[in-house]
Amino acid sequence: MPAQLIDGNALSKQIRAEVAHRTAALKARGVQPKLAILLVGDDPASDVYTRHKVKDSTETGLLATLERHPADLPEAALLARIRELNADPAVHGILVQLPLPRHMDASHVIETIAPAKDVDGFHIASAGALMVGRPGFLPCTPYGCMKMLDAIGCDLRGKHAVVIGRSNIVGKPMAMLLLQRHATVTICHSATANLAAITRQADVIVAAVGKRNLLTADMVKPGAVVIDVGMNRNDAGALCGDVDFEGVRQVAGWITPVPGGVGPMTRAMLLVNTLEAAERAQAD
Ligand code: NAD
Repeated sequence: MPAQLIDGNALSKQIRAEVAHRTAALKARGVQPKLAILLVGDDPASDVYTRHKVKDSTETGLLATLERHPADLPEAALLARIRELNADPAVHGILVQLPLPRHMDASHVIETIAPAKDVDGFHIASAGALMVGRPGFLPCTPYGCMKMLDAIGCDLRGKHAVVIGRSNIVGKPMAMLLLQRHATVTICHSATANLAAITRQADVIVAAVGKRNLLTADMVKPGAVVIDVGMNRNDAGALCGDVDFEGVRQVAGWITPVPGGVGPMTRAMLLVNTLEAAERAQAD
């Protein structure tokens, strides 16, 4: 029997409805949750992503501003603007769209954001909080993947979860979240020997690499849950993930499609984090 689909479009719609509901409650108390997005340069993909973020926010009642800065903006000017936003009580979340122009140090820029407004969850303080199990902001993509696992009632305790990819924004935080839920976690990466032998033992596989057909049916244990984070283009130019979807769905128990899987969840979790930032600011 082919795998059941984990529908990121449907689940993200539910999450957005909850965000809209909680936002309305906050607004009734006189608080308008606000996200400030900073875009430096004219990268076409970043332009699309930031416009989506504004649209998603507006649709759920959040206020989002998009500030566009020229590619030659000095780093000091960007840092000064972030510090102004840090000090502005009307702004609850700050997002600097990556990648930044080459003359900027992305870590330095991200670490200038106040951790209480770090709705992307990329600040070193957010990463540290996740590592030690303290409250912070979770990076949107792994957060969205966890929501998908929760939605299918996946009890991770004692399960073997294999994360493929070790980036700071997806692979590593994903592994930490799975560990928090008591999974036994293996992180695979570009230097892993015999990836297939490891993935074949997995009850849950999260593929976050950026390589088409990285995970094929022969690498998957029957019934496993497969979450595909990858975003690639196939020969026809269509969006596809890291997983050979048609092959793996014949073996897996659950699978996320691309498109319509992790992507919409990532977008929804930014709204959750922004709302959460506003709620926390109220509670202080
Ligand atoms: P990255 O390039 O920073 O990391 C890729 C990781 O894959 C690295 O840790 C590397 O060690 C590992 N890797 C490379 N080749 C490998 C191989 N042959 N076998 C095993 N591991 C290998 O990328 P990232 O930012 O973590 O993103 C990963 C993918 O997820 C990309 O396709 C990206 O576009 C996508 N992505 C999607 C979303 C979404 O919302 N759907 C969000 C973020 C990233």
